[in-house]
Amino acid sequence: YLKLQGVRKLFGDACVLDNVDLEIREGELVTLLGPSGCGKSTLLRCIAGLTELDGGSIMLAQKDVTRQPPRDREVGMVFQSYALFPNLTVGQNVEYGMKMRGMSKAAQRTRSEELLALVDLEEKRDVYPQSLSGGQQQRIALARSLAVQPKVLLLDEPLSALDAKIRKNLRTEIREIQKRLGMTTLFVTHDQEEALIVSDRVCVMKGGRIIQDDSPEGLYTAPRTEFVARFMGSYN
Ligand code: ATP
Ligand code: MG
Repeated sequence: YLKLQGVRKLFGDACVLDNVDLEIREGELVTLLGPSGCGKSTLLRCIAGLTELDGGSIMLAQKDVTRQPPRDREVGMVFQSYALFPNLTVGQNVEYGMKMRGMSKAAQRTRSEELLALVDLEEKRDVYPQSLSGGQQQRIALARSLAVQPKVLLLDEPLSALDAKIRKNLRTEIREIQKRLGMTTLFVTHDQEEALIVSDRVCVMKGGRIIQDDSPEGLYTAPRTEFVARFMGSYN
């Protein structure tokens, strides 16, 4: 459904993505797990069209999107730091993308109400983002990313700025919403436990490559390299 083939990205002399192949089936949640600097965010940015590739291709729903501008890719993205518009209300934040696409006012309203209900924040529609907690802001960011019915959802460490307890609740909530919508999702984290709990499949990245692509059980019980074993904490 989402298919990356031989994706390469260079920054100067540094090869940040080195022939990455990755396939995600429709409705699947795949996690990219790896240490800081291994290329996770860069890979998401390539899929979203925010960074140009130096090689390889990206197919989304049978369409080659490699050369398409971001707005034509039908991709939703949530970033690590909350990126809500501070001068717009919660409702306006969620409706922003719909407005850009010329959806009618009434349709915007109906859809944003559905989405706010989905993340359980209906009562916050008229407040501004600064009055929300971090976890609430990320739920609004999630609702906003779903507003234009993306074909794939890209989540770049959406929980990393939150404290442990909220983080645990929200990861379960995101997984439930993802399953309910059957949303094809690529989730980035450097937290092993998080990856094992939320994913259908986990891809471990190191130095711009995917070094193991496996089920959570497979990764934990049969790490293919010492690096993976150590990283998963099952090495001793
Ligand atoms: P983290 O877990 O810290 O978010 P990451 O896996 O998301 O790390 P990336 O942000 O994808 O890592 O960065 C991968 C590498 O590419 C890093 O070495 C980074 O310094 C480099 N890099 C990223 N963006 C740029 C850029 N615009 N110009 C030059 N180098 C960059
Ligand atoms: Mg990153």
